[in-house]
Amino acid sequence: TKYVYTWGAGKADGDGSMKALLGGKGANLAEMTKIGLPVPAGFTVTTEVCTYFYDNKRTYPAVLRAQMEAGIANMEKIMGYKFGDSEGFPLLVAVRSGARDSMPGMMDTVLNLGLNDKTVAALAKATDNERFAWDCYRRFIQMYGDVVLGVQKTPDEDHEPFEAVIEKYKHEAYGSDIVDSDLTAEDNKELVSRFKTLVKDRTGHGFPEDPWEQLEGAAGAVFGSWMNDRAIVYRRKYGIPAAWGTAVNVQAMVFGNTGPNSGSGVAFTRNPANGENVLYGEFLVNAQGEDVVAGVRTPDEVSGMAEALPAAFKELMKVRAILEKHFRDVQDVEFTIQDGKLYMLQTRNGKRTAAAALKFAADMVKEKLISWETAVMRNPADQLDQLLAPVFDINEAKKATVIAKGLPAGPGAASGKIYLNADRAVAAAEKGEKVLLVRVETSPEDLRGMIAAEGILTARGGVSSHAALVARQMGKVCVCGASAIEVDYDKKTVTAGDQVFKEGDFLSIDGTAGTVYGGELATEPSEIITGLINNKKASQKTEKFQNFVQLMEWCSKATRLGVRTNADTPEQVKNAVAFGAEGIGLTRTEHMFFEGDRIDAMREMILANTEEDRKKALKKLLPHQRKDFFGIFKALEGKPATIRLLDPPLHEFLPNTEESQADLAEKMGVPVEEISHRVHELHEQNPMLGHRGCRLAISYPEIAEMQAQAIFEAAAQCVKKGIPVKPEVMVPLVGYARELELQVNIIHRVAAEVKADKGVEFDYLVGTMIEVPRGALTADEIAKHAQFFSFGTNDLTQTALGVSRDDMGSFLSSYQENDIYPKNPFASLDTTGVGQLMEIAVEKGRSVKPDIKLGICGEHGGDPDSVTFCHKLGLAYVSCSPYRVPVARLAAAQAAI
Ligand code: PEP
Ligand code: MG
Repeated sequence: TKYVYTWGAGKADGDGSMKALLGGKGANLAEMTKIGLPVPAGFTVTTEVCTYFYDNKRTYPAVLRAQMEAGIANMEKIMGYKFGDSEGFPLLVAVRSGARDSMPGMMDTVLNLGLNDKTVAALAKATDNERFAWDCYRRFIQMYGDVVLGVQKTPDEDHEPFEAVIEKYKHEAYGSDIVDSDLTAEDNKELVSRFKTLVKDRTGHGFPEDPWEQLEGAAGAVFGSWMNDRAIVYRRKYGIPAAWGTAVNVQAMVFGNTGPNSGSGVAFTRNPANGENVLYGEFLVNAQGEDVVAGVRTPDEVSGMAEALPAAFKELMKVRAILEKHFRDVQDVEFTIQDGKLYMLQTRNGKRTAAAALKFAADMVKEKLISWETAVMRNPADQLDQLLAPVFDINEAKKATVIAKGLPAGPGAASGKIYLNADRAVAAAEKGEKVLLVRVETSPEDLRGMIAAEGILTARGGVSSHAALVARQMGKVCVCGASAIEVDYDKKTVTAGDQVFKEGDFLSIDGTAGTVYGGELATEPSEIITGLINNKKASQKTEKFQNFVQLMEWCSKATRLGVRTNADTPEQVKNAVAFGAEGIGLTRTEHMFFEGDRIDAMREMILANTEEDRKKALKKLLPHQRKDFFGIFKALEGKPATIRLLDPPLHEFLPNTEESQADLAEKMGVPVEEISHRVHELHEQNPMLGHRGCRLAISYPEIAEMQAQAIFEAAAQCVKKGIPVKPEVMVPLVGYARELELQVNIIHRVAAEVKADKGVEFDYLVGTMIEVPRGALTADEIAKHAQFFSFGTNDLTQTALGVSRDDMGSFLSSYQENDIYPKNPFASLDTTGVGQLMEIAVEKGRSVKPDIKLGICGEHGGDPDSVTFCHKLGLAYVSCSPYRVPVARLAAAQAAI
């Protein structure tokens, strides 16, 4: 088996399509080499070795060493240096991870590998630069000691042990703080010696001098880091399978730290925060790449390179154009300039905010770089709702005090209580607080806190620091490098000038402008919302709005699956239609009674002891319902409306407090004891599996009669006013064909009565929800009575998994941590289990009625993965809450492309 793939001097064993085997970094280094870009030679150890490593007690295939030796030999030939050379310029290498999908900062890296007491002298001699050589050696021992040998901070230490040694030395030697790049050769020599002592003390072994031992150790550490905590957390969040493994890339070092003619940078070919078509990134003179991304020194804007290193900058701009043309996407690159010459160390598709994704896609279609179909695919459906995210109210923001300015690293507006460490941020968020995570600089260890927070604020670090990348990708509002704030972890305070904010105080950040405000600020909706829903002309003129509308048009062109909405009021219908909903997939009629004191009539009906009492209460309900349905039909302007008959899990509607019982008793003119007695009688142990759904109307057919009457009378009213209507009456919680048959008979009878009574004609459908397993399994029998099925995947999940929709909070996180649920099954469809029930229902339903109309109205209708599944299942539509409609449209279009 070939485990090692080399690249260099215009040739490569692999290419950009081989990401599964070579990882993203390795595949793209091969690709960049092949298209003639300046890439230092190297090789990739494949992801198969990672799999082998974990399957075989952390050992390697026997043939690997020989293949790596050939790989090193190839690098030596191309670069003209020798690995471990103690005479001439020694070949030094960088050892980096590279998974199939990039996982920024989650895994380990070792630079300057190959240095030891002899090669450092050779390097000093060959470069005639002692300071540089010993700077590299000092960095190498520090990185290798940390990553490979595990010399790391213990719980009772405040600082990283190597950093502590440096700090102590600086104070001894200089009595004050100086920057690392001011350390002399002698300083670095002394530090190397102290580092070695530290390693010996902590590990019991001397620092490995043999370059091959170093290389194998580093490769093992990279493979090992695939299973470190933060990598596992990251993979869980982004659904990356552990089985993919990582590759290891070994690449010849080039040096950004040889002097003022050198430097390192990271850049995006376009702005990944707002999408602007300009080179965007950061750069440091006389530094190695790690200095830029670690957020330790705050770097300069990459545009500053035009002045500092003009020739290399020109070259970089050329490379930018070549890369975009070749990859047809925005690239995120790392580069180093060694003595004026540019080298490319990495390229990958740049992570981006939803706003940037939208603009990139729209611009690249205009530039003829991509097709409109590709543009649709380039907008991540699960991030689209970021575009609908709120911004600060402009007037409030004007009045508020700006306490600091930082870099706009993740757009949007966030206001929250500040917390200075990840654990406390998580704890506060779990209590329902809005949280702002504030850190001096974030590291990947803060991931949990970042996930929990509304926004992230840091005092140091740049927009391309790993923390900022991750924040943007999560759609978190983020301001970083706000150097005017002082974060004191011990006192748990944030100070800006003379203002002191304690943990739990409010701050607000604008991640689009980079502004930090004291206190809490109200937010306001995005232009897309105001443009679509409030028809605000100024909003509609914005580029963002227009690109969004364009995207939605493309979606309509591509899609097969329709998108409807779950809406209970005319207002919700209007919003959903503005977002492009094609109709209503679910109106929960009982929800109409949550408003005002209308619940009273509903309660009277539920509490009624006799048929006579119930009919009296139903009479009160009828005009309310008729009016509601009329309003909904009107707002829909002829689009179909699926209206579900009453499905009240009783516990949601009963007056459960003494106060509400007394209140109702008074309104009904009955003694309170009567009410409390009846409430007691109706009490259920398991209301979700109790007297709800169609069971209620099986016991009391007059409920279905009243509702059918309200629906059809509203329809008749519309017809008379010339408003087109398409009612679809839906029976909930059906598990037996006979249940549906009884209800359908009532509905048809009432329809005929209303038509005769009002003297008008209208069309309607009658169908059912498939939301209990027996309904799915006997869908052929049920289909005989149904013109449509709508999957109620909330209850179907509840009943198929045997997990209460309302009580899963207590174990959800342990189920996710133990990899039992890949995702919350109530948010994202369990396609293996629940999905199978749906497949059975579709097949059986169609076997009886080939044209039966099929849809889904559970909450899953707004989840991109679930939408993809519904597309594959051949459903006619998905239905979701109004604000999720654009997400579902995008996901539906992507499924079809
Ligand atoms: C469902 O069960 O999926 C459904 C849509 O109905 P409800 O959420 O009202 O139970
Ligand atoms: Mg249901």
